[in-house]
Amino acid sequence: MPPKRDQVYDALRTVQDPDLGKDLVTLNMVKDVRIDGDQVHVHVELTTPACPMKDKIRQDVVAAVQAVDSTIRDVHVEFSADVRPPNEKLHDQQSPLPNVKHVIAVGAGKGGVGKSTIAANLAIGLAQHGAKAGLLDGDIYGPSMTTMLGLQEVPGRVRENTLLPFEVHGIKSMTIGKLVEPEKPLIWRGPMAHGAFKQLATQTDWGELDYLIVDLPPGTGDVPLTLAQLLPLTGAVVVCTPQKVAQDDARRAVRMFEQLGVAVLGIVENMSYFIADDGKEYDIFGRGGAEHMAKEMSLPFLGCLPIHMQLRKNCDNGQPLENWQQETLAAELNGLCQNLAQQVSIASASGAYVQPTLSVQ
Ligand code: ADP
Repeated sequence: MPPKRDQVYDALRTVQDPDLGKDLVTLNMVKDVRIDGDQVHVHVELTTPACPMKDKIRQDVVAAVQAVDSTIRDVHVEFSADVRPPNEKLHDQQSPLPNVKHVIAVGAGKGGVGKSTIAANLAIGLAQHGAKAGLLDGDIYGPSMTTMLGLQEVPGRVRENTLLPFEVHGIKSMTIGKLVEPEKPLIWRGPMAHGAFKQLATQTDWGELDYLIVDLPPGTGDVPLTLAQLLPLTGAVVVCTPQKVAQDDARRAVRMFEQLGVAVLGIVENMSYFIADDGKEYDIFGRGGAEHMAKEMSLPFLGCLPIHMQLRKNCDNGQPLENWQQETLAAELNGLCQNLAQQVSIASASGAYVQPTLSVQ
């Protein structure tokens, strides 16, 4: 006799999502169970298409279902994904971007550490996994996305009072770099910076997004403050190079987010080391420094990226998708994206989302 659906569901109650710490049935991740003779089909809906735990979940489902009955020959696990919004999100009307599930800031203590590079590749990498991803170039003092995304010849479009995002490389993007003359210095007084950022963020027609990655200006200035007050943030990523002086600034950025009530989802160590043509690795800046800092501060470490000439070239040429054609680079970037998606799912499930409050002395 083939097993009953109830028996299969009971078995699936013993399979935990390793990140969320609850079983698949309780988490409402089991969307369907079909029994066809000695074949069982299970449809599991993941909380992100970039889930790094997919293989583990598959193995656990197969083992649990096979243990139900010796007559079961094959267990087929089919995955889909639906990114879940933070579970303690305030009423959607209160967010100026109600159709954006997760806003994630990417910050750094100082300029030149690769913050924009990481922000762009995180958005593109999440989109490669099938997520709806957007990228807001919030670096209103030194926007680099026109170059990094190759937007120079892409015409800007507006509809009534809304800016239509640039749809390139699988993502939707907006940058002030396309709204001003290329070499014009961008000098903003505090309130103007606030206004410019707010307009870019809220007057862009983002449509529905799973993840909106916001590339912040370096340091701890006006824009992070505006962002935290304007949009409900799921959290922030801090990019850091390994050396001590960079870590000191990154710590300040972490503290800033904490003070703004924004959860730090993780640290990325960029320019971690250099691989020469002969394959030899050089720890130019002291590999592992940012990872060590993350440990000390009890923050998740999302991974590291070496100094990679191809990455720099693809950035300069506005061809970020080329990064996914280069095996090692693709693997490293993919790891970062999956680890970030994982932290977003964990933060969402645990209700870590907080409405920022800040008293400015
Ligand atoms: P930030 O946003 O922190 O100011 P950028 O992302 O603009 O830094 O990066 C500065 C420069 O360093 C860019 O030319 C970029 O292509 C390059 N770069 C960043 N990360 C790497 C890396 N891992 N390997 C090689 N070049 C990199």
